Amino acid sequence: MTYDVVVVGAGPAGSVTARFAQEKGAKVLMIDRRAEIGIPVLCGEGISQRIDKWGMLEGTNWIASTMDGAKIYAPDGTMVTLSKEMAGNETGYVVHRDLFDKELARQAGKAGVDIQLRTEALALLKDKNGKICGVKARTYDEEFEIPADIVVGADGVESRIGKWAGINTTLKPDDLETCIQYTLSNIDYHSDYAEFYLGKKIAPGGYVWIFPKEEGVFNIGIGILASLSKPGKPKQLLDAFIKSRPEFKNATCLRILAGAAPVAKPVETVKDNLVLVGDAARHVDSITGGGLTTALEGGKLAGDTISDCVKNQTFDKESLSVYETLWKQAFGQKLLRDYLVKDIMLGFDDKTLNMLADSLKDYKFDEFSTLSLVKALVLKHPTLLVKLKPLMRLSEKVK
Ligand SMILES: Cc1cc2nc3c(=O)[nH]c(=O)nc-3n(C[C@H](O)[C@H](O)[C@H](O)COP(=O)(O)OP(=O)(O)OC[C@H]3O[C@@H](n4cnc5c(N)ncnc54)[C@H](O)[C@@H]3O)c2cc1C
Repeated sequence: MTYDVVVVGAGPAGSVTARFAQEKGAKVLMIDRRAEIGIPVLCGEGISQRIDKWGMLEGTNWIASTMDGAKIYAPDGTMVTLSKEMAGNETGYVVHRDLFDKELARQAGKAGVDIQLRTEALALLKDKNGKICGVKARTYDEEFEIPADIVVGADGVESRIGKWAGINTTLKPDDLETCIQYTLSNIDYHSDYAEFYLGKKIAPGGYVWIFPKEEGVFNIGIGILASLSKPGKPKQLLDAFIKSRPEFKNATCLRILAGAAPVAKPVETVKDNLVLVGDAARHVDSITGGGLTTALEGGKLAGDTISDCVKNQTFDKESLSVYETLWKQAFGQKLLRDYLVKDIMLGFDDKTLNMLADSLKDYKFDEFSTLSLVKALVLKHPTLLVKLKPLMRLSEKVK
C-alpha cells in the first residue's frame, strides 16, 4: 500500500479531511479501530442547521428531527427562549449520528478514499532522522506499516496521535466534561425546542439537555465538569432529574451512552508531516461541548491544505501551517472566547444564573447586540454589573 496521506479516525473530522484531500488529488487511506462507522454513538446528536455550508451531506436520512430553537432554564425554572436564528451553533437538527457519520464516510469513499475498518493505529512511523513517515497499525492480529507523507490525527477526544508527535494534548479535569445520555421512548411530552437546564445542583459546571428525536422519543443527557464529578455522579444526577419530571415516568430506555467531551483550548495542530483535526485538535465549543460544526469546517480546511501540500510535495510544518492559519481565522477567536467565558461562568452561583435568566426572559434576541444585551441585564438587576465585568472586558479583548 502506498498513500500520500493516512487519516487515523473515521469520525466526521477524519472523513471530511480525507474526502477533500483526495478530491483534489492526494491518495488517501482512512483507518478506524471500530468495526462499523458511527457505532457506538457517543453524542447528544444536536447540530446547527447551518452545519453543512459546503453541501457535504447528501439526502436526509441522517436527520431525525428539526428544532425551532433552544429554551434555557435557570435553576429556579426561569426560561429564556432563543429563536432559531439566535440559538447558536448547537441546535437546529437532531441527527441519527450513526447515519450522519456513515454519510460523511460514504462521501469520502465516493471521492476515492480507501477505508479500512477494525484497524487501529499503534504508533507513528519515523525515519532515521526522526521524521514522521506513516503509522504502525494492527488489524485483527496482524501488525503492519502504512507509509505516508502526512499523518492526520482525527482520533477524537482520546487522541494519541498528537501525543506521539510531541504535542501536549493532556486534558485537565477542568477542561473535560463527563457525560451520560439516555434515549428514552414512550414519553408523553411534545417539544420542538432543544432544552438546557443549568444549576450547580442540577449539573455542576455543565448542563442537562433534552433533545426531541422523534415523536415521544428524546435524548436526555448530562455533562459535568470532571473536576466537579466523581464516578457515578453524572448518572445519579441525570436519574434524579428524570425522576423529578412526571412526563418521563413511563419512559422506556432504548440506548445508554457515556463519554467525555473536551472543553479545552485548541492545541498546536500541525507539525512536520502531521495534522490534527476535530476533537483531537480540541476544536470543541467550551460552553456547549459541541464539536461537529468545527469538525466539518476544520476538516474541509485541513483537506484543502493537505491536497496543496501533496501537489507541491512540501510536508513541513510551515507548509501545513496554512491550515492552522485558516481555522484560526474561521473559528479560532470563537473557540478561545468561549473557553474564557466558560471559566467566568463557572464562578456564577445559582442566584446569579437566576438573575441573568430573569433579565433575559423578555429580551428580543432577534434584535441582538452585545450592548443592548448588557443594558437589558443590568437594567433589571444592577448588581449583575460587577459579575459581568470580566465578560465585558473579554468582549473588548476577543472580538
Ligand atoms: C456525550 C456527548 C455528547 C455530545 N453531543 C454533541 C452534540 O449534541 N452536538 C455536537 O456538535 N457535538 C457533540 N459532542 C461532541 C462530538 O461528538 C465530537 O465533537 C465529534 O464526535 C468530534 O468528531 P471527531 O471526528 O473529531 O471525533 P470522533 O467522532 O470521536 O471520531 C474519532 C474516531 O477515531 C477512531 N480512533 C480513535 N483512536 C484510534 C486509533 N488509535 N486507531 C484507529 N482509529 C482510532 C475512533 O474509533 C473514532 O471513530 C458530544 C460528545 C459527547 C461525548
